Amino acid sequence: MYQADLISKTRKHISQSEESLNAQILIKAGFIEQVMAGVYAYLPLGYKVLKNIETIVREELSTISAQELLLPALHPKSMWEKTDRWETLDVLYRFTSHYTKTELALGSTHEEIITPLAQTFIQSYQDLPLAVYQIQTKFRDEKRAKSGILRGREFIMKDLYSFHSNSEDLDTYYDTVIQAYTRIYQRLGIGDITLKTYASGGSFSKYSHEFQTLSDIGEDTIFVCESCNIAVNQEIIEEQSICPECGNPHLIEKKSIEVGNIFKLQTKYSEAFDLRFTNEQGENPLVIMGCYGIGISRLMGTLVEIFAHDNSHMIWPKAVSPFNIHLIALNTDNSDVSQQAEKLYQKFKSQNISVLFDNRNERPGVKFAEADLIGIPQRIIISTKSLAQNAVEINGVITPLDSIK
Ligand code: ATP
Ligand code: MG
Repeated sequence: MYQADLISKTRKHISQSEESLNAQILIKAGFIEQVMAGVYAYLPLGYKVLKNIETIVREELSTISAQELLLPALHPKSMWEKTDRWETLDVLYRFTSHYTKTELALGSTHEEIITPLAQTFIQSYQDLPLAVYQIQTKFRDEKRAKSGILRGREFIMKDLYSFHSNSEDLDTYYDTVIQAYTRIYQRLGIGDITLKTYASGGSFSKYSHEFQTLSDIGEDTIFVCESCNIAVNQEIIEEQSICPECGNPHLIEKKSIEVGNIFKLQTKYSEAFDLRFTNEQGENPLVIMGCYGIGISRLMGTLVEIFAHDNSHMIWPKAVSPFNIHLIALNTDNSDVSQQAEKLYQKFKSQNISVLFDNRNERPGVKFAEADLIGIPQRIIISTKSLAQNAVEINGVITPLDSIK
């Protein structure tokens, strides 16, 4: 698209109240705007990044037979009472309908919705296993919301739920989810610093697993086994003080951001909703469940915290960059330059390569400052000087025009 058509503008200064680096950078670059503490609007550039993260997640989940659906964000009180979480879940937003006086909640998670719904598609063992997921807005009344999009009161999560006829089948699927998650974080460029982390399994299993991205600004503390490249969350370090995989007693304390969390729920929710199936013997046992979250918008914030340069701007990993190429024409009053630039732009477009095309009549300094803020990793500059050599500059390297296919 033409940069002149972008609705968002880059900004030199932003409000003092924005404390986190991720939000500062994203607001300056025109990717997001803060609406109130913990609530952000995603502007076209930011929304593209979010969608690119979602695409990677969708592609990987499609390889593990998970089907996408969309559950409501508005929930009846009755379902949250069934699990005793109406009163106890402190982050749950609850309110009363003005007209019907019905009490409602805004979904902070969806076990209470998916479990009773699953009874409509699970009758017999032949219907199992199955897995469904959604990418949706979650609402949580977070006490502190000072970490930009890392901790929203409204945020985007991918939540996946799996249903099984026995625990071994859950175990197998759980491991394939770990593999899919590993591929997702790798594709996002944070594979090496995102560690599978043993965390509390609640009342229903020994452990859950989190995926923790190492970062000094992280709110979590984990203890890393450097030989296995896994970690133990501080919350269980007293019961689990050595590496659960190799027994290494020398775990190293680090700060990290929780970008995913997976649980073997076993029958915790199927019991609450009496979700059963008919097995091969004609009996009616409870369905075994797992749940698997990824913080999509938190991941975007994490990428900013990890890949920010000089604490001032982003260079996006290619996989999620809002555009493949930033094409910048300098000296646009030179008609040769503007024609060549337009030709290049059309050529990329015809090849389905996404391009942000800056053909505005602005000073180079202004253009570069904005391009730095936007952070597209591949930059092509065309100018009077480069055209004199019949070339463009690709990320600083002079490249003949006719070598661009
Ligand atoms: P935290 O301990 O950070 O509050 P959580 O353990 O309560 O998170 P889960 O219920 O496990 O979160 O949610 C699944 C994923 O959703 C988390 O791993 C995280 O990546 C993301 N997430 C949770 N809360 C938020 C939030 N307030 N804003 C953005 N992402 C969030
Ligand atoms: Mg968690």
